[in-house]
Formats: sequence, C-alpha cells, structure tokens
Amino acid sequence: MDNHSQTVLRIALPVPLRRVFDYLPPVGIDLEELKPGIRVRVPFGKKDKAGRIGIMIGVADSCDLEADQLKTCLEIIDQQPLFSEQQLELLLWASAYYHHPIGEVLFAAIPTSLRKGVPARIPKISLWRLLPSAPESDDPKLKRATRQSQLLAFFRENPEGLTAESLRETGSGWRNIISRMIDKGWVEETQTVIPCLPQKPIMETHIPELNQHQAYAVDKVLGEKNEFRVFLLDGVTGSGKTEVYFRLIERVVSERKQVMVLIPEIGLTVQLIERFLVRFNCPLTVLHSGLNDKERLTSWLLAREGKASIVIGTRSAVWTPLPNLGLIIVDEEHDPSYKQQEGFRYSARDIAIVRAQRENIPIVLGSATPSLEALNNVQQNKYEYLSLPERAGSASQPTLRFLDLRGAEMINGLSRELMDKIRDCLDAGRQSLLFLNRRGFSPVILCHDCGWIAQCRHCDANLTYHQFAGQMRCHHCGAQQRMIPACPECGGSELVPVGQGTEQITTTLQEFFPEARILRIDRDTTSRKGEMHRMLARVHERKVDILVGTQMLSKGHHFPEVTLVGILDADNRLYGVDFRSTERLAQLIVQVAGRAGRAEHPGEVYIQTHHPDHPVLQSLARHDFTGLAKELLRERAETGLPPCSSMAIVRVEAVHSGDAMDFLKIARARINAPEQLEIWGPMVAQMERRAGRYRAMLILQSKHRQVLQRALDEWIPQVEGLKRPYNLRWSLDVDPQDTF
Ligand code: ADP
Ligand code: ZN
Ligand code: ZN
Repeated sequence: MDNHSQTVLRIALPVPLRRVFDYLPPVGIDLEELKPGIRVRVPFGKKDKAGRIGIMIGVADSCDLEADQLKTCLEIIDQQPLFSEQQLELLLWASAYYHHPIGEVLFAAIPTSLRKGVPARIPKISLWRLLPSAPESDDPKLKRATRQSQLLAFFRENPEGLTAESLRETGSGWRNIISRMIDKGWVEETQTVIPCLPQKPIMETHIPELNQHQAYAVDKVLGEKNEFRVFLLDGVTGSGKTEVYFRLIERVVSERKQVMVLIPEIGLTVQLIERFLVRFNCPLTVLHSGLNDKERLTSWLLAREGKASIVIGTRSAVWTPLPNLGLIIVDEEHDPSYKQQEGFRYSARDIAIVRAQRENIPIVLGSATPSLEALNNVQQNKYEYLSLPERAGSASQPTLRFLDLRGAEMINGLSRELMDKIRDCLDAGRQSLLFLNRRGFSPVILCHDCGWIAQCRHCDANLTYHQFAGQMRCHHCGAQQRMIPACPECGGSELVPVGQGTEQITTTLQEFFPEARILRIDRDTTSRKGEMHRMLARVHERKVDILVGTQMLSKGHHFPEVTLVGILDADNRLYGVDFRSTERLAQLIVQVAGRAGRAEHPGEVYIQTHHPDHPVLQSLARHDFTGLAKELLRERAETGLPPCSSMAIVRVEAVHSGDAMDFLKIARARINAPEQLEIWGPMVAQMERRAGRYRAMLILQSKHRQVLQRALDEWIPQVEGLKRPYNLRWSLDVDPQDTF
C-alpha cells in the first residue's frame, strides 16, 4: 500500500484491538498545541453519533490510508496532556509487556469521569450551610415543621456544612425543604471542592523511638543517594514496618516531594488511613474503590497538580500522575490483590518497580511474608534486603501449635481440644479469632437416601448451603435459589449439609457457649457499605468475645485483645493443585497468626490438621518463614516454575463445549517456538464449565523473560486475527497469579 503524506493523529481508543487509529486533526487547529496524552473525541462506527473518547498518543506525517478515507477528529478535549511524557512512556511499556491493547491500558489509568469526557478540572459540589439568622431546631414556631427542625439540628451538628450526599440520608424531598429554608434566609448554598478525606481525628500521637533494625532500614533507604533501588522490608507482623514508612515519608515530604503508598484491596484500609491522618499534617489523598467518580477525579487531580504530598491507594493508584514523586512504598507486596485479574491484567507492584526505575527513585516493598518473586530478586542481589526480625516494643511473637485431628473428637469441624482452649480464653475475658476460608453453612448438600449432591446448573461446582438466607448459592457464578425441602432425584427429605462454613461454625459455637458474644465477619455479613468498619469497632470496644471470619480478616489489621487464633481448614490448601498453593498457605498462616497478641498476653495460634508433621507446617511453627520460602524457591528452581521462569497463560471461554479447545489448538499451531520456550496444553480448565461457559487454557513458559516476550510479540497479533465464534472470549495473562 502507498504511503500518503498527510498529518494524522494517532488515537488510542478503548477497544480490544491491538492497534491505534488515524484521524485528521480538526480544521484550523495549531498542530504545535497538540501534545501526546490529550483526549479527543472521534467518530467511530456507524451507530456512535456522539463519537468516542480517545487519547492522542502521537502525530504522524504519513499513513496508509488516503486522505478521503480518513475521518476528522470531532473535538480536542484537553489543552494539557493527562500524563507526563514519562508516564505515557510507562503506559506504552506496560501495553507492550502485557501485550494488551494500548487504548484499554490508557483508559485503565484514568478515573472514570475522564473516560467519559468530563473536563480535567477539580469538580465543585454544592455545600449548604446554616446562616446566623436560622432559629434553633427546638424553636416553637417550627412545631409543625418537623423536617425543617430535624434538618436544623443536623446543620447544627455539622457547622462546616452539608453535601447533597449527607442530606440525602435525611430522607426524600430534602431539596424542597432546603429551598424553603433558603427562601427564609436560614441556609445558603455554596460551591466547594470535595473534601476527599474523612475529618482529621484529634488524637495525641506518640512517636516511638526507632529500634536498631528500624533505624538501620530508614538509613539504608534514604542514606544513600536518592536514586532507584528496590528495598525489601521483611518484617514480622507488628515489627514496626509502618513506623519505618512514616519516617521515610516524613523525610521525603520535607524535601517537597510526593510519596505514593500502595496498599492491598481490602475493607480494612480505614484504620491505616486514620494512622496516616493522625501522623501527617501535609495534604494527603486516597484512591480506592470506595470513592465515587467525583471524589476519585478530585483525588487524582490533586495528585497530578502536585497539591497532594501523600497518595495512598489500592492497585490502580499506581497510575496516578505525580509530578514530584520521590518515593514509592508497596505495603504487603505479596498480596494477590495487586494483580488485576480481568481486562488489563497488570501487577501494580511490578509496575511500581518499573516506575521507580524510570523515575530513578527508591521503592520499598514491605511484607511479613515476602513473595518468592521478591526473595528471588534479593538472592540475585537485585533488591536490597532489610529485616525487622522482632515485634516492636515489648510484644512477643505468638506461639504456633498444631491440633492433631487424626482420630480426634470433632464437633462440627471444631476439635474438642480447640473448644477447651476457647473456653479458657472466654473465662479469662479475652477474645479469640477463628479462621475458616469458606462462607455459608456447608459447601455440600447431600441426599442421605440416594447420594444426590446439589450442583450449580451453570458450573461444574457444588452449591453451598446458606442457612440464614435459606438458600443454595454457587460461589463461582453467583447463582442462587431457595433451599429445596426434598431431594429432586428420589424425593427423600433428609438433605444433609456436609462440611462446614463460617455460618455453621458460628452456630455451633453459639450452642456451645451461649453466653459468648460471637461475631461473624465474611463477605455475606459485610456487604453493606461501612459494615466492616462498624464490626471492627465493636471488636475493638471489646463487645465481641469470639470472632469467626474468612480470609478478609487475615490482612492488615491488628486485634490487640485477641490472644487465641484458631485456623480450622489448613489441610485444604496443604495439597492444593496450583503451584503457588503452599506459598499462599504459608503466607496466610503467618498473616493470620500475626493478628494476635500484645505485650501482656502473648498470642497463641492453633492449627487444626491431619498432617502435623508436614514440613511446611513445621517450618512455620519455628517461625521460619524465610527458611521455608528459601526451600520453596529451591523447588521452583528445580521445576522451572515462576519466579525461576516467566509464564504467560492464554485463557479461552466459549458457550459451546469444544470451541475453546479448538481455538487454542489452532492458535498453538501458530506459535513459532524457539527451543527455550515451553508450551503446555491446550488443556481444559480445572473447573471446565463456569457461569455457563466452557474454559480452556494454554501455558507458555521460558527461563528467559526475553524469549517469552519475543514469542508473544509475534504470536499474540496472530491470535487476535484468528477467526472465532462470536461468543468466544480469550485473554492473555502475563505473570499469572495462578494457573486456574
Ligand atoms: P507493622 O506495620 O510491621 O505490622 P506497626 O508499624 O504497625 O507494625 O507497629 C506495631 C506497633 O508497634 C504499633 O502500635 C507501633 O506504634 C508500635 N511500634 C512501632 N515501632 C516501635 C518502636 N520502635 N518502639 C515501640 N513501639 C513501636
Ligand atoms: Zn435423593
Ligand atoms: Zn455456578
């Protein structure tokens, strides 16, 4: 095809295609003003009258199409680019590394409002405030105006003003009442920037003196030249990692630079944010999934304009533009939630490292249970290892013991011995925490007469019995139905719940300890906004004796009053099928154990197991996570699995059985495989059918990252071009978290 000389704009659009689109600039526009990273609106497709938002990533002087085949941009949205040049380069790099369409990558990096074309300006919202002429809420003349007097009282409680969001909570029709109050001259409406943070808690801060390990870590990170270096801060739970972060942040902020703090995706971030608020006086902003669009946009822009000194956020915050970035901290770097598991599958931890490298600044990865990836890099002298081997202050490490379940007397999943421990704990007036990673009452519903088992209609999976809701639910596709009274096969009425979930454990404990205040914390009990926070507050106020919870409870939270931790289902994971299951189990046990105990009452952790002699459990009992990790790393090296190799998985799902496998067979034949590339599959997924779709996958692996990358460079565009049934979906996962 001929090349035609013609200035065109290269536009990235959020579509699942690995290419950019050429458009003519609007007539009369000064090309000098168009900088890469600005948003434009372009015509796309026949149905799209309003056009689509895209991001201009470059200007070119020629293109394959003739001028009359090119369409013209409808609108230039931004004067200033959304990203700095450096950041745009990082995004282009990520698109290439993960082999993901550039348009989707760029759109993943900006707040929802900007994706919709909203101006990149800090949005203002209405704030209503009481005026001095307003009467008291108990003024007799308001006797018959109950809503008005109710609102007056609400205003008196919030002298700084009320937003629409909080006024809405007072009931419908608030706008009418407010406008009546404005007419009377009692209330005024003003415009304000969204307060992005909760009120600063007023508290005395006690700043501890650093112990020698902490001081060493702080010196190491900031003592040397301020240049790129990755530090792994390996510190047992409660060893004072957060205190180390605080000191580092203080220093960097005092040099007028910005700090990015990444935290895992959990419902517990409120506590951490409060600790930051208490400690720091500088402008701080948060970015997490709990924000609405306007809040998110505000936080993002405050960061971009350099007005926020500290940005704390979950995964996607790694893309926040920060003009004066001086330090990145990734807390709990091992946490799987740093990996985006759908769409653009990136690892925020890994992106953070690449970003630190490109910006030539230090980055600290903290964890009590470092990932094998990080430890591997330490062994290869790529990362600097810093250790905090002891709990800070006078708190000691919890002891870890095993409850041998072989032949033991069991009460609905709880051993008699554990029950006795819980009883002792109750008698001593202390709290216990029981951990079981399974929601619901029982994972299996079985007909005692004929052996029928309730299965999901859309998945190759059993239905879970949820007693409180009176339902059977699928934990894989979300399908739910009323619990049936009788077996659909034989009509037998004896349907038996087999195995235990958190509901059943709670019920059993309540029968056993009727006087105990038991609280269950799992996804079912915390789905309402703010519920998690309220529940945790009850635990801290000592209004709870026994806590029963899932994985949710294993992260980022301290329960100083808890002295007994029970792990009920360790065995399930001891022989897991995924190559990471042992690593994950070990991390989980150490993390859960770390929730417990403080100085006066050291914590005790009991693990129920049929395999008390298992080497993994034995290492953990010796508090030797590092030794265990080394051992696991040696195994990975022997078997050639990540992090001792690079892996990528192509996953396919299709409505018709066989389509996914057929597609992958054709795709596999196109791989131009050098010797150092291993290919496994195609194979059907472990749970072949999920949510009505049949799934298969193909794994590519190489000891050399470059070999894998080059193979993907060549192959992925071909996969994209393959003919396929319209309902077949495929995705690529580079550096997968699991092989499901
Ligand atoms: P981590 O983040 O490693 O779990 P934290 O930083 O939260 O640990 O510290 C745990 C507790 O120990 C906190 O209450 C903290 O205030 C306290 N602490 C931290 N460093 C010290 C120190 N050097 N001396 C005394 N107490 C400390
Ligand atoms: Zn039956
Ligand atoms: Zn299902």
